[in-house]
Amino acid sequence: MDLFEYQGKRYFARYGIPTSAGGVADTVDEVVAQAQRAGYPVVVKAQVKVGGRGKAGGIKLARDAAEARAHATAILGMDIKGHRVRRVWVEHASDIAREYYASFTLDRAAKLHLCMVSAKGGVDIEEVAATDAGAIARLHVDPVDGLALERAAALVEEAGLDPEARGQAAELLVALYRCYTEGDCDLAEINPLILTTEGRVHALDAKVTLDDNAAYRHPEWEEFAETETLDERERLAKEKGLNYIGLSGSVGIIANGAGLAMSTLDVVNQVGGSAANFLDVGGGANADVMAAALEVINSDAAVRSIFVNIFGGITRCDEVAKGIVEALGRVDLRSPIVLRLDGTNAEAGHEILADHVSDRLIVDETMLGAARQAVALAGGAR
Ligand code: GDP
Ligand code: MN
Repeated sequence: MDLFEYQGKRYFARYGIPTSAGGVADTVDEVVAQAQRAGYPVVVKAQVKVGGRGKAGGIKLARDAAEARAHATAILGMDIKGHRVRRVWVEHASDIAREYYASFTLDRAAKLHLCMVSAKGGVDIEEVAATDAGAIARLHVDPVDGLALERAAALVEEAGLDPEARGQAAELLVALYRCYTEGDCDLAEINPLILTTEGRVHALDAKVTLDDNAAYRHPEWEEFAETETLDERERLAKEKGLNYIGLSGSVGIIANGAGLAMSTLDVVNQVGGSAANFLDVGGGANADVMAAALEVINSDAAVRSIFVNIFGGITRCDEVAKGIVEALGRVDLRSPIVLRLDGTNAEAGHEILADHVSDRLIVDETMLGAARQAVALAGGAR
């Protein structure tokens, strides 16, 4: 789950990571009240879960109430890359001397945490990584060892942070590491991490992704779930307890197992199509799960065909076939299904389906063949 900047900053605050004083506002009047409280000059910041708000005009400095009002009016309701701004964060503006970058994330390949620090923050860090990889200092952290202050200090020095910022930055990194590990984050990123003209180092932005698998030990995350902005399909899928991620293509995907679901996306891509979603129905591909999955995919107006890709292991294909037949009786589908069924009891599964095969339910023996048919039905390759 991604957090809004204001939620990320509150999360940071629990671990002693310095941020600017501020508050949220949902109306123009609230912005002015928050600005008064924070003290002018203030910065008015659009709260959307997408990067590049600054470039999109979603972040503005205001020196007085008139300016705060004008910016609030412009930013509230603004559309930033498809995200509507319903809330802003108002904080006391900082006098920036330098903009740095700092983050923790998991390096799955190395099986270690990865800390990245750069003296070239503020701009697009992906661009820095692509054009000037040397400008990003990296440190792998073994969770057993943790992050000692001395190693953090060496890292900020290597990254070329200004001498007057190093001590505070190293301490901040140790705090950010605690936030990231104890706080169960997948990502804790500060861009920019600033050095102010008064010589203070603090987080001007916060990008925090929480690890949903750790939700059970964080009852306090409930407040974040309340403000989570799911699209309609994802909301429906969550309600039905499905492992679903909405995408922007036209081929609806149902597969059993996350690995097979990913491969199914790849194969659709390979033959020139684009997936409308990721959906793993796991081992329980019975009629209830199938009907729920088909309903969610059916609710997606962009879907033109549905590719159901099942490999029977412990899950038996005859059970899956029964589930599909029953689900078809319950859901009034807009799009045709292409089904590939292989593995345990596949023959029995095909027999069950035989009577139901039509131009709305097509069975293909192979994953590649099924992908081709599904893509053709969705309007062909791009
Ligand atoms: P993002 O564009 O979505 O990453 O939003 P950020 O919170 O990173 O802000 C973008 C940029 O706005 C920063 O890099 C700063 O240059 C500028 N900015 C944000 N807050 C302040 C502030 O308090 N003072 C000043 N002078 N600039 C700010
Ligand atoms: Mn930023």
